Amino acid sequence: MTEPRAYDLHYGGRWQKPVSTERIEVRSPATGALLATVPAAGPADVTAAADAAQEAFDAGWGRMDALDRARPLRALAELLRARMGQLAELESAVTGRPIREMRAQMARIPEWIEYFASIAVGLEAESNLVKGGFVTLTAYEPQGVCALLTPWNHPVLILVKKLAAALAAGNCCLIKPSELAPVSPLILAEWAMEAGLPPGVVNVVTGAGPTGALVCDAAPVRRIDLTGGTATGRKVAARAGERLVPCTLELGGKTPVVIFADAPLDEAVAGAAFAAFVAAGQTCVSASRFLVARPLYNAFCTRLGARADALRLGDPADPATDMGPVISAAARTRCLDFIARAKAEGARLVAGGAPPDLAPPFDAGHYLRPTVFADVTPESHLFQEEAFGPVVSVTPFETEAEAVELANDSAFALGAAVWTCDVARAHRLSRAIRAGVLWINDHHKNDPRSIWGGFDASGWGKENGWDALRSYLRKRSIVIRTASQYDDWFAGKGRYG
Ligand code: NAD
Repeated sequence: MTEPRAYDLHYGGRWQKPVSTERIEVRSPATGALLATVPAAGPADVTAAADAAQEAFDAGWGRMDALDRARPLRALAELLRARMGQLAELESAVTGRPIREMRAQMARIPEWIEYFASIAVGLEAESNLVKGGFVTLTAYEPQGVCALLTPWNHPVLILVKKLAAALAAGNCCLIKPSELAPVSPLILAEWAMEAGLPPGVVNVVTGAGPTGALVCDAAPVRRIDLTGGTATGRKVAARAGERLVPCTLELGGKTPVVIFADAPLDEAVAGAAFAAFVAAGQTCVSASRFLVARPLYNAFCTRLGARADALRLGDPADPATDMGPVISAAARTRCLDFIARAKAEGARLVAGGAPPDLAPPFDAGHYLRPTVFADVTPESHLFQEEAFGPVVSVTPFETEAEAVELANDSAFALGAAVWTCDVARAHRLSRAIRAGVLWINDHHKNDPRSIWGGFDASGWGKENGWDALRSYLRKRSIVIRTASQYDDWFAGKGRYG
């Protein structure tokens, strides 16, 4: 991105001038430079975009055979594959995440579209011959217009996870991306048209929380899918409840990583650094609470601290950069507050704890050195609350039971990881730790076939897999009489049931 571009909205198959005159600046988190502006869509914009989605649904996207829908979806996957370099540069510029990370992530995006296009073709309904001379058929159908509310940390990945399932199921989408990273979703809408998706199937309105609230309230919206913070989740769920519209909520986390004494220390430390500091700790499943068996504890703290200190912070566009900035000044201030409170609560600073010294223009970015605190107690703020940045805690444990208790001592239940060579223990822990996604001897691995979603304060519902496709469909039952004669109840013959 060179010259800042003033984007319009993208709905009904084309760029549309907003009615709202308010605009939002999109700035580089690495330098503060202005990258783009986008409209803060208001009521008239949201209504027009939602109506465009409903029109496209009524025009036949939902009634189309899944094989016919799969063709433009596969074309979109191919188009994204061809342009993944461009997309990675855009994602890196807007989020500040290192180009190496974004290239790796963009390389996998088409797989979600191909996967959902394929399984939608393979969706089979059921039929049963039932008592009394009846055949019952089940039928799947799309829900209609789906609102997709997405965060800024993986702007394309999280959007495509939802969009691919929703579209393959025959829905039309009204997307409200994060105000901090709205550009790639707008571009994606343009590319979807180029790939041959009918106008109005993919619609994007930009804006902040108030625009998101308008989207939730738009009359055509029949389903809401949010990835965001837990506080936002509560508001969206309340709104969905009020409207009786089903919703999926992928919310915050406080991922524990349990490291047993039999784990290979080198691998566990390398895995810990990756789990904690990729994306500058800004993923919902970022490792944030390390629970380490006492025999490894001191060595682990020292070595994780050394790995953190060795990470190269700097220009996200440089393939040698390991870690970029956090997304905003507010995010860095929040992380610095966590650091101040951890110190006040008696935790021991092992690495980081302050912004780095970087040369211009990166001295104006929201950088923070990767930070490790040891001797963190379970009741402390850092142990309990989501920092959503590169600030992690390490806590020792003596027994397996204590490790499980510490891991489960959280309102969140999204990701977790266990490092051990003991197969039986790995199985035991994978059942005992409360988490929707649990890795054994690894972290962050994600695949369209592998369901994703949390419990409790981390939300409800699933992304990925058949669960996600079915969540974008509604199921109906059709009961057909095969008996030759109607069983006349009031003529005294009827057998009720
Ligand atoms: P956020 O909650 O601030 O925003 C998410 C989206 O909701 C944005 O598009 C925002 O504009 C919109 N929004 C805000 N208020 C709204 C309202 N009242 N009504 C409707 N929409 C509204 O989250 P964020 O800062 O963009 O993302 C970070 C959070 O997302 C973290 O808590 C992280 O853990 C979570 N997250 C979860 C997952 C997961 O899979 N569970 C994945 C990534 C991020």
